[in-house]
Amino acid sequence: MILTRRKISNYHHLRVDSDRLRQDFEELAQIGATPEGGVHRLALSQEDLLARAWFADRVEAAGLLVQDDDAGNLSGVLRSAKPHAKTLLIGSHFDTVPNGGKYDGSIGVLAALECLRVIREAAISLPVHLEAIDFTDDEGCWRSLFGSRALAGMLSDEDVHDARIDNGAFRAALSRAGIEIRDVFTAERPSSAIAAYLELHIEQGERLERAQTKIGVVNDIVGRTTYRITFLGQAGHSGTTPMYRRRDALRGAAQFIVRTHDAVRERYGDGVFNCGDVDVKPGAFNIIPSEACLTVECRHVNAQLLAEMEMLIVQIARECAAVNALTLECERIAHMPAAHMDESILSDIEGAVEQLGLSAMRLPSFSGHDAQMISRIAPGGMIFIPSVGGISHHAQEFTHWEDVVNGANVLLQTILRIALKKK
Ligand SMILES: [Zn+2]
Repeated sequence: MILTRRKISNYHHLRVDSDRLRQDFEELAQIGATPEGGVHRLALSQEDLLARAWFADRVEAAGLLVQDDDAGNLSGVLRSAKPHAKTLLIGSHFDTVPNGGKYDGSIGVLAALECLRVIREAAISLPVHLEAIDFTDDEGCWRSLFGSRALAGMLSDEDVHDARIDNGAFRAALSRAGIEIRDVFTAERPSSAIAAYLELHIEQGERLERAQTKIGVVNDIVGRTTYRITFLGQAGHSGTTPMYRRRDALRGAAQFIVRTHDAVRERYGDGVFNCGDVDVKPGAFNIIPSEACLTVECRHVNAQLLAEMEMLIVQIARECAAVNALTLECERIAHMPAAHMDESILSDIEGAVEQLGLSAMRLPSFSGHDAQMISRIAPGGMIFIPSVGGISHHAQEFTHWEDVVNGANVLLQTILRIALKKK
Protein backbone atom coordinates (compact mmCIF):
# COMPACT_ATOMS: atom_id res chain seq x y z
CA MET A 1 0.00 0.00 0.00
CA ILE A 2 1.47 3.30 -1.08
CA LEU A 3 0.44 6.33 0.93
CA THR A 4 -2.13 8.61 -0.66
CA ARG A 5 -3.04 12.21 0.12
CA ARG A 6 -6.23 11.16 1.87
CA LYS A 7 -4.44 8.62 3.98
CA ILE A 8 -1.71 10.96 5.19
CA SER A 9 -4.19 12.63 7.53
CA ASN A 10 -4.56 9.22 9.17
CA TYR A 11 -1.01 9.64 10.39
CA HIS A 12 -1.31 13.13 11.87
CA HIS A 13 -1.63 11.52 15.28
CA LEU A 14 1.72 9.71 15.02
CA ARG A 15 4.29 10.77 17.62
CA VAL A 16 7.78 9.69 18.57
CA ASP A 17 8.18 7.58 21.72
CA SER A 18 9.71 10.08 24.15
CA ASP A 19 10.90 7.44 26.66
CA ARG A 20 12.55 5.28 24.01
CA LEU A 21 14.28 8.28 22.47
CA ARG A 22 15.41 9.42 25.91
CA GLN A 23 16.85 6.01 26.71
CA ASP A 24 18.88 6.08 23.49
CA PHE A 25 20.02 9.60 24.30
CA GLU A 26 21.19 8.66 27.83
CA GLU A 27 22.98 5.53 26.60
CA LEU A 28 24.79 7.35 23.81
CA ALA A 29 25.81 10.17 26.17
CA GLN A 30 27.68 7.58 28.25
CA ILE A 31 30.04 6.88 25.36
CA GLY A 32 32.83 9.40 25.86
CA ALA A 33 31.15 10.97 28.91
CA THR A 34 33.32 13.55 30.72
CA PRO A 35 33.37 14.21 34.49
CA GLU A 36 31.92 17.69 33.77
CA GLY A 37 28.79 16.13 32.31
CA GLY A 38 29.64 16.59 28.65
CA VAL A 39 30.91 14.27 25.94
CA HIS A 40 34.36 13.92 24.39
CA ARG A 41 33.87 11.84 21.25
CA LEU A 42 36.22 12.95 18.51
CA ALA A 43 35.63 11.70 14.98
CA LEU A 44 37.17 8.25 14.35
CA SER A 45 38.34 7.96 17.97
CA GLN A 46 37.73 4.83 20.03
CA GLU A 47 34.64 6.51 21.51
CA ASP A 48 33.28 7.38 18.07
CA LEU A 49 33.75 3.79 16.93
CA LEU A 50 31.96 2.55 20.05
CA ALA A 51 29.10 4.96 19.34
CA ARG A 52 28.83 3.62 15.79
CA ALA A 53 28.78 0.02 17.00
CA TRP A 54 26.10 0.96 19.54
CA PHE A 55 24.06 2.68 16.79
CA ALA A 56 24.35 -0.32 14.46
CA ASP A 57 22.95 -2.49 17.28
CA ARG A 58 20.05 -0.10 17.83
CA VAL A 59 19.30 -0.07 14.10
CA GLU A 60 19.26 -3.87 13.97
CA ALA A 61 17.16 -4.11 17.10
CA ALA A 62 14.62 -1.86 15.38
CA GLY A 63 14.40 -4.26 12.45
CA LEU A 64 16.07 -1.78 10.10
CA LEU A 65 18.92 -2.31 7.70
CA VAL A 66 22.46 -1.27 8.73
CA GLN A 67 24.35 0.37 5.90
CA ASP A 68 27.69 2.17 5.63
CA ASP A 69 29.71 3.75 2.86
CA ASP A 70 33.36 4.29 1.94
CA ALA A 71 33.59 7.55 3.87
CA GLY A 72 32.42 5.88 7.08
CA ASN A 73 28.91 7.35 7.06
CA LEU A 74 26.71 4.92 8.97
CA SER A 75 22.99 4.52 8.42
CA GLY A 76 19.84 2.75 9.46
CA VAL A 77 17.54 2.23 6.48
CA LEU A 78 13.81 1.59 6.14
CA ARG A 79 13.39 0.45 2.56
CA SER A 80 10.43 1.32 0.39
CA ALA A 81 8.69 -1.47 -1.48
CA LYS A 82 8.55 0.77 -4.54
CA PRO A 83 11.08 -0.11 -7.22
CA HIS A 84 13.63 2.63 -8.03
CA ALA A 85 12.59 4.62 -4.98
CA LYS A 86 14.67 7.64 -4.06
CA THR A 87 16.10 8.07 -0.58
CA LEU A 88 14.95 10.63 1.95
CA LEU A 89 18.07 11.20 4.06
CA ILE A 90 17.66 12.30 7.66
CA GLY A 91 20.73 12.77 9.77
CA SER A 92 23.42 14.59 11.65
CA HIS A 93 26.57 13.43 13.46
CA PHE A 94 27.75 11.50 16.54
CA ASP A 95 31.21 13.07 16.73
CA THR A 96 31.74 15.99 19.12
CA VAL A 97 34.28 18.76 19.56
CA PRO A 98 36.81 18.17 22.38
CA ASN A 99 34.86 18.27 25.67
CA GLY A 100 31.62 19.01 23.85
CA GLY A 101 28.01 18.53 24.88
CA LYS A 102 25.49 15.72 24.70
CA TYR A 103 23.04 17.30 22.25
CA ASP A 104 24.98 18.67 19.29
CA GLY A 105 24.61 16.17 16.44
CA SER A 106 23.44 13.24 18.55
CA ILE A 107 19.87 14.51 18.79
CA GLY A 108 19.61 14.66 14.99
CA VAL A 109 20.69 11.07 14.36
CA LEU A 110 18.74 9.60 17.29
CA ALA A 111 15.54 11.46 16.37
CA ALA A 112 15.94 10.25 12.77
CA LEU A 113 16.23 6.65 14.00
CA GLU A 114 13.19 7.12 16.25
CA CYS A 115 11.13 8.45 13.31
CA LEU A 116 12.03 5.38 11.25
CA ARG A 117 10.99 3.10 14.11
CA VAL A 118 7.63 4.85 14.49
CA ILE A 119 6.93 4.69 10.76
CA ARG A 120 7.93 1.03 10.60
CA GLU A 121 5.77 0.13 13.59
CA ALA A 122 2.80 1.94 12.06
CA ALA A 123 3.35 -0.27 9.00
CA ILE A 124 3.27 2.73 6.70
CA SER A 125 4.49 1.98 3.22
CA LEU A 126 6.20 5.04 1.76
CA PRO A 127 7.29 5.66 -1.83
CA VAL A 128 10.81 6.64 -0.66
CA HIS A 129 13.52 4.82 1.27
CA LEU A 130 14.11 6.45 4.65
CA GLU A 131 17.73 6.62 5.83
CA ALA A 132 18.87 7.82 9.27
CA ILE A 133 22.53 8.74 8.78
CA ASP A 134 25.51 9.58 11.01
CA PHE A 135 28.04 11.62 9.00
CA THR A 136 31.76 11.18 9.60
CA ASP A 137 33.66 14.08 11.18
CA ASP A 138 31.14 16.89 11.02
CA GLU A 139 33.13 18.84 13.61
CA GLY A 140 36.39 18.85 11.70
CA CYS A 141 38.65 16.95 14.07
CA TRP A 142 40.31 15.79 10.81
CA ARG A 143 38.39 17.37 7.93
CA SER A 144 35.27 19.46 8.50
CA LEU A 145 32.02 17.90 7.21
CA PHE A 146 34.06 15.03 5.77
CA GLY A 147 31.28 12.46 5.46
CA SER A 148 28.64 14.81 4.08
CA ARG A 149 31.10 16.31 1.61
CA ALA A 150 32.07 12.81 0.46
CA LEU A 151 28.42 11.90 -0.07
CA ALA A 152 27.75 15.15 -1.95
CA GLY A 153 30.85 14.68 -4.13
CA MET A 154 32.45 17.77 -2.61
CA LEU A 155 35.73 16.25 -1.39
CA SER A 156 38.83 17.60 -3.05
CA ASP A 157 42.16 15.88 -3.64
CA GLU A 158 43.69 18.08 -0.93
CA ASP A 159 41.31 16.54 1.60
CA VAL A 160 43.02 13.19 1.22
CA HIS A 161 46.42 13.92 -0.34
CA ASP A 162 47.50 17.23 1.12
CA ALA A 163 51.26 17.20 0.69
CA ARG A 164 51.72 20.16 3.07
CA ILE A 165 50.67 18.17 6.10
CA ASP A 166 51.30 14.65 7.30
CA ASN A 167 48.29 12.53 6.46
CA GLY A 168 49.58 9.51 8.39
CA ALA A 169 47.46 10.05 11.50
CA PHE A 170 44.33 10.74 9.45
CA ARG A 171 44.93 7.65 7.34
CA ALA A 172 45.45 5.54 10.47
CA ALA A 173 42.26 6.91 12.04
CA LEU A 174 40.26 6.13 8.90
CA SER A 175 41.78 2.69 8.78
CA ARG A 176 40.74 1.99 12.40
CA ALA A 177 37.19 2.67 11.24
CA GLY A 178 37.68 0.29 8.33
CA ILE A 179 37.99 3.07 5.73
CA GLU A 180 40.65 3.14 3.00
CA ILE A 181 41.63 6.68 2.12
CA ARG A 182 41.75 5.90 -1.60
CA ASP A 183 38.13 4.70 -1.53
CA VAL A 184 36.47 7.71 0.09
CA PHE A 185 35.44 9.29 -3.23
CA THR A 186 33.21 6.32 -3.99
CA ALA A 187 30.90 7.43 -1.15
CA GLU A 188 29.54 10.03 -3.60
CA ARG A 189 25.89 9.53 -4.46
CA PRO A 190 24.08 10.81 -7.51
CA SER A 191 21.76 13.70 -6.91
CA SER A 192 19.03 11.73 -8.67
CA ALA A 193 19.07 9.10 -5.90
CA ILE A 194 18.20 11.54 -3.11
CA ALA A 195 14.68 12.84 -2.61
CA ALA A 196 15.57 15.36 0.09
CA TYR A 197 17.65 15.88 3.22
CA LEU A 198 16.40 16.76 6.71
CA GLU A 199 18.35 17.56 9.85
CA LEU A 200 17.17 18.26 13.39
CA HIS A 201 19.76 20.13 15.48
CA ILE A 202 20.06 22.31 18.56
CA GLU A 203 20.25 26.00 17.73
CA GLN A 204 23.58 26.62 19.53
CA GLY A 205 22.48 30.23 19.97
CA GLU A 206 19.77 31.95 22.00
CA ARG A 207 17.48 33.49 19.41
CA LEU A 208 14.71 30.91 19.89
CA GLU A 209 14.92 31.11 23.67
CA ARG A 210 14.76 34.90 23.65
CA ALA A 211 11.82 34.90 21.26
CA GLN A 212 10.15 32.17 23.37
CA THR A 213 9.72 30.18 20.18
CA LYS A 214 9.81 26.40 20.07
CA ILE A 215 11.02 25.65 16.55
CA GLY A 216 13.54 27.33 14.26
CA VAL A 217 13.04 26.80 10.55
CA VAL A 218 16.50 27.33 9.09
CA ASN A 219 16.43 29.17 5.78
CA ASP A 220 20.16 29.77 5.24
CA ILE A 221 23.37 28.25 6.51
CA VAL A 222 26.32 30.54 6.95
CA GLY A 223 29.28 30.42 4.57
CA ARG A 224 32.70 30.38 6.18
CA THR A 225 36.25 30.83 5.08
CA THR A 226 39.43 30.01 6.94
CA TYR A 227 42.75 31.75 6.38
CA ARG A 228 46.23 31.06 7.63
CA ILE A 229 47.90 34.45 7.99
CA THR A 230 51.59 34.59 8.86
CA PHE A 231 53.43 37.77 9.86
CA LEU A 232 57.19 37.46 9.43
CA GLY A 233 59.65 39.79 11.16
CA GLN A 234 63.02 39.38 12.79
CA ALA A 235 64.02 37.77 16.07
CA GLY A 236 66.36 39.71 18.34
CA HIS A 237 67.41 40.37 21.92
CA SER A 238 64.42 41.82 23.72
CA GLY A 239 66.61 44.01 25.93
CA THR A 240 69.15 45.42 23.52
CA THR A 241 67.14 46.03 20.34
CA PRO A 242 65.74 49.58 20.34
CA MET A 243 61.96 49.71 20.25
CA TYR A 244 61.84 51.75 17.02
CA ARG A 245 64.01 49.22 15.15
CA ARG A 246 61.99 46.14 15.94
CA ARG A 247 60.25 44.03 13.34
CA ASP A 248 57.96 42.36 15.83
CA ALA A 249 55.70 39.83 14.11
CA LEU A 250 53.35 39.50 17.09
CA ARG A 251 52.85 43.25 17.30
CA GLY A 252 51.63 43.26 13.70
CA ALA A 253 49.42 40.24 14.38
CA ALA A 254 47.92 41.85 17.48
CA GLN A 255 47.06 45.03 15.59
CA PHE A 256 45.52 42.93 12.84
CA ILE A 257 43.29 41.01 15.26
CA VAL A 258 41.97 44.11 17.02
CA ARG A 259 41.48 46.13 13.83
CA THR A 260 39.65 43.27 12.07
CA HIS A 261 37.31 42.69 15.02
CA ASP A 262 36.45 46.41 15.05
CA ALA A 263 35.98 46.62 11.28
CA VAL A 264 33.72 43.56 11.08
CA ARG A 265 31.59 44.86 13.95
CA GLU A 266 31.27 48.27 12.31
CA ARG A 267 30.56 47.20 8.74
CA TYR A 268 29.06 43.71 8.78
CA GLY A 269 26.17 43.38 11.21
CA ASP A 270 25.68 39.66 10.70
CA GLY A 271 29.30 38.91 9.88
CA VAL A 272 31.63 37.05 12.20
CA PHE A 273 35.40 37.12 12.55
CA ASN A 274 37.43 34.94 14.87
CA CYS A 275 41.08 34.39 15.60
CA GLY A 276 41.46 31.54 18.06
CA ASP A 277 44.84 30.15 17.13
CA VAL A 278 48.13 32.06 17.35
CA ASP A 279 51.49 30.35 16.96
CA VAL A 280 54.42 32.56 17.91
CA LYS A 281 58.07 31.81 17.16
CA PRO A 282 60.60 31.47 18.58
CA GLY A 283 58.21 31.68 21.53
CA ALA A 284 60.43 32.94 24.34
CA PHE A 285 59.60 35.88 26.62
CA ASN A 286 62.98 37.51 26.05
CA ILE A 287 63.18 37.20 22.26
CA ILE A 288 61.38 39.48 19.81
CA PRO A 289 58.83 37.34 17.93
CA SER A 290 60.01 36.67 14.40
CA GLU A 291 56.89 34.85 13.30
CA ALA A 292 53.21 34.95 14.25
CA CYS A 293 51.02 32.49 12.43
CA LEU A 294 47.27 32.98 12.89
CA THR A 295 44.43 30.77 11.83
CA VAL A 296 41.34 32.93 11.42
CA GLU A 297 37.87 32.45 10.08
CA CYS A 298 35.05 34.63 8.88
CA ARG A 299 31.40 33.77 8.35
CA HIS A 300 28.41 35.36 6.64
CA VAL A 301 25.09 34.02 5.37
CA ASN A 302 25.38 36.23 2.30
CA ALA A 303 27.97 34.90 -0.17
CA GLN A 304 28.74 38.35 -1.61
CA LEU A 305 29.24 39.96 1.78
CA LEU A 306 31.42 37.03 2.82
CA ALA A 307 33.62 37.66 -0.22
CA GLU A 308 33.82 41.36 0.75
CA MET A 309 34.77 40.47 4.31
CA GLU A 310 37.55 38.25 3.02
CA MET A 311 38.99 41.09 0.97
CA LEU A 312 38.80 43.39 3.98
CA ILE A 313 40.65 40.90 6.20
CA VAL A 314 43.48 40.48 3.72
CA GLN A 315 43.70 44.27 3.26
CA ILE A 316 43.98 44.91 7.01
CA ALA A 317 46.63 42.18 7.30
CA ARG A 318 48.66 43.89 4.54
CA GLU A 319 48.43 47.26 6.26
CA CYS A 320 49.42 45.88 9.66
CA ALA A 321 52.38 44.09 8.09
CA ALA A 322 53.48 47.25 6.28
CA VAL A 323 53.44 49.57 9.30
CA ASN A 324 55.53 47.08 11.28
CA ALA A 325 58.01 46.36 8.45
CA LEU A 326 56.89 42.75 8.28
CA THR A 327 56.35 40.43 5.38
CA LEU A 328 53.05 38.66 5.04
CA GLU A 329 51.87 35.27 3.87
CA CYS A 330 48.13 34.79 3.39
CA GLU A 331 46.66 31.43 2.54
CA ARG A 332 42.96 30.63 2.10
CA ILE A 333 42.86 27.13 3.55
CA ALA A 334 39.17 26.28 3.63
CA HIS A 335 35.90 27.57 2.26
CA MET A 336 32.42 26.26 2.97
CA PRO A 337 29.93 28.05 0.76
CA ALA A 338 26.73 29.50 2.20
CA ALA A 339 23.68 27.31 1.56
CA HIS A 340 19.99 28.05 1.02
CA MET A 341 17.41 25.59 2.23
CA ASP A 342 14.64 24.50 -0.12
CA GLU A 343 11.45 26.60 -0.06
CA SER A 344 9.13 23.63 -0.46
CA ILE A 345 10.82 21.76 2.39
CA LEU A 346 10.58 24.89 4.55
CA SER A 347 6.81 24.94 3.97
CA ASP A 348 6.60 21.24 4.82
CA ILE A 349 8.38 21.93 8.12
CA GLU A 350 6.11 24.90 8.81
CA GLY A 351 3.05 22.79 7.99
CA ALA A 352 4.19 20.17 10.49
CA VAL A 353 4.83 22.87 13.12
CA GLU A 354 1.34 24.30 12.65
CA GLN A 355 -0.26 20.89 12.76
CA LEU A 356 1.51 20.21 16.08
CA GLY A 357 0.41 23.57 17.49
CA LEU A 358 3.95 24.82 18.06
CA SER A 359 5.47 28.26 17.50
CA ALA A 360 8.14 28.76 14.86
CA MET A 361 10.34 31.38 13.25
CA ARG A 362 12.64 31.34 10.26
CA LEU A 363 16.28 32.03 10.99
CA PRO A 364 19.72 31.56 9.45
CA SER A 365 22.26 29.20 11.01
CA PHE A 366 25.58 30.77 11.95
CA SER A 367 27.21 27.39 12.41
CA GLY A 368 28.09 24.93 9.67
CA HIS A 369 26.10 21.72 9.32
CA ASP A 370 26.03 18.60 7.16
CA ALA A 371 22.84 20.07 5.62
CA GLN A 372 25.08 22.70 4.05
CA MET A 373 26.74 20.03 1.89
CA ILE A 374 23.82 17.69 1.18
CA SER A 375 21.62 20.65 0.18
CA ARG A 376 23.95 21.15 -2.77
CA ILE A 377 22.73 17.91 -4.34
CA ALA A 378 19.20 17.62 -2.94
CA PRO A 379 16.48 19.86 -1.49
CA GLY A 380 17.47 20.44 2.14
CA GLY A 381 15.76 21.54 5.33
CA MET A 382 16.89 22.05 8.92
CA ILE A 383 14.90 22.21 12.13
CA PHE A 384 16.34 23.97 15.17
CA ILE A 385 15.28 23.51 18.78
CA PRO A 386 16.23 25.93 21.59
CA SER A 387 19.60 25.74 23.36
CA VAL A 388 19.32 26.95 26.96
CA GLY A 389 21.45 30.10 27.30
CA GLY A 390 22.74 29.50 23.77
CA ILE A 391 25.53 27.36 25.25
CA SER A 392 27.09 24.80 22.93
CA HIS A 393 30.40 23.02 22.29
CA HIS A 394 30.55 22.83 26.08
CA ALA A 395 29.61 20.35 28.82
CA GLN A 396 26.78 22.68 29.90
CA GLU A 397 25.06 22.44 26.53
CA PHE A 398 21.42 21.78 27.41
CA THR A 399 18.02 21.54 25.75
CA HIS A 400 14.80 20.84 27.67
CA TRP A 401 13.62 17.32 26.89
CA GLU A 402 10.19 18.62 25.91
CA ASP A 403 11.86 20.67 23.18
CA VAL A 404 13.77 17.61 21.93
CA VAL A 405 10.50 15.69 21.66
CA ASN A 406 8.80 18.63 19.90
CA GLY A 407 11.65 18.78 17.39
CA ALA A 408 11.52 15.01 16.81
CA ASN A 409 7.76 15.18 16.20
CA VAL A 410 8.19 18.03 13.72
CA LEU A 411 10.81 15.88 12.00
CA LEU A 412 8.46 12.89 11.91
CA GLN A 413 5.53 14.84 10.44
CA THR A 414 7.82 16.60 7.95
CA ILE A 415 9.12 13.23 6.73
CA LEU A 416 5.54 12.09 6.10
CA ARG A 417 4.68 15.32 4.26
CA ILE A 418 7.73 15.07 2.00
CA ALA A 419 7.17 11.37 1.35
CA LEU A 420 3.60 12.12 0.32
CA LYS A 421 4.76 14.53 -2.38
CA LYS A 422 7.20 11.97 -3.77
CA LYS A 423 4.39 9.69 -4.85
ZN1 LIG B 1 26.43 19.71 15.05
